[in-house]
Parts: sequence; structure tokens; C-alpha cells
Amino acid sequence: MTRNKPEERPENLDAVLDILESLWGNERNRPELGHDEPLDGLFLTLLSQNTNDRNRDRGFATLKERFPTWDEVAGATQGEIEDLIRVAGLAKTKSERMLAILANVRETFGSYSLKALKTMDDAAVREYLSSLPGIGAKTIACVLLFDLDKPAFPVDTHIARFCRRMEWVDASLPPDKIEPVMEAWVAPERYLGGHVNIIEHGRGLCGARKPQCQRCPVAPLCPFYAKERADS
Ligand code: SF4
Repeated sequence: MTRNKPEERPENLDAVLDILESLWGNERNRPELGHDEPLDGLFLTLLSQNTNDRNRDRGFATLKERFPTWDEVAGATQGEIEDLIRVAGLAKTKSERMLAILANVRETFGSYSLKALKTMDDAAVREYLSSLPGIGAKTIACVLLFDLDKPAFPVDTHIARFCRRMEWVDASLPPDKIEPVMEAWVAPERYLGGHVNIIEHGRGLCGARKPQCQRCPVAPLCPFYAKERADS
């Protein structure tokens, strides 16, 4: 049975998160993934769309090397930005969105900074960020969680796959709909570490094509594994 409603919290959720924590340890050793300037986090996540972390980081580093401040990026041409972030893919779209976002931030807050979001309430932050071009649920949740220290549970492809394999949510539920469900079920103090643990699990054992179920300590609680065994 799958569940998509907050009142239908899976009984094994805490036990599974505990196993992942014993395996990957990101709750006790919280990784430093935030930025003092939330615009950095916003644009880093924007650059991550449709590419891997390595190319995202290379694109971001190249841009910041040439234009160390967002004021300087805002003064660059779209073509210049496009060339600098090309390694991260979709450079035309991403550079266009960056300039549009910078103009909006300047107009809204008076400078090229999103530090003002730190003192705004969570709903207002979500509303503002969702008004920006190309900024979807995952990016908003990443900025909230990592850069603003506000409660959010970003759902990427690894987390969506894991939640579906655990049958915590319907197979057809999209990531932006999984996010509020996980936020209702997971204790807020576990959001950051739990989020990173599931991603590391997806990269390390629970991959899309060949999950390493025989080596996975979650297997005794995993419906996907139970079905695979029954079918073999
Ligand atoms: S048992 Fe397999 S499908 Fe289940 S969580 Fe582990 S690796 Fe993923």
C-alpha cells in the first residue's frame, strides 16, 4: 500500500532513516552546503538543472572567477555569461534567467543580495522565490534548507526514486508533490541530514538501473527488494 497523505505516515520511516544514518552519517556530521549569500545557492542550484554536480561546479567557478560579485555578473552581457557557464549545459536559457533574476532581486531588495530572505517568514520566501523565472520546487527547497536554515525537504531524482521504491508514495507522484509529504512525515531536525543520506544512498547503493539490494541494509524493510526476490 502506498501513501501520499500526511496522516498516513509510514511506520518504517524512522527505522529506515536510522539505517541510512548509520550507513552515511550526515545527520551527526552535517555537511556544510550553505552559502552566506543565498544568491550563490540559488544560482548554483539553477546551474545544476539537467547536469551533474561536477559540471555545475565548474560552470559556477568559471563565472565567479571572471565576475566575482553579482553586481559584476549583472553588468555582463548575456553572451558573456553564456560562454562562462556553457559547461553546465542549457547555457542560453540559464544565462537569460540569471540576468532576469538579478534584475528582479535588485528591484525588490535594492541590491544584488538575497540576505533579506533570512528574516522573512517561510511562506513569504517560498512565494518570492517561486515568482522568479526558472525556479522550481527543488531549487526553492534547497535555498530554504541550505542557505536560509529554514525547514524544507528538497526532492531530487534520487529521493523520488527511493520514496517510490519504499512505497511511501505512489509511483506516479512527481517530486514537487513528494516534498510536502516528506516535510509532514520527517522530523524537521532530520531534514538536512536525512535528505543528504538518501541522496548518498541513491548514488552509492540504490541507483536507478542496478540497485545493490544484496548489499543494502535497508533490504529487510524494502518492498522493492521483496518484490524483486518474489519475482526471481
Ligand atoms: S534494498 Fe535495493 S531498492 Fe531497497 S533501498 Fe536498498 S538498494 Fe534500494
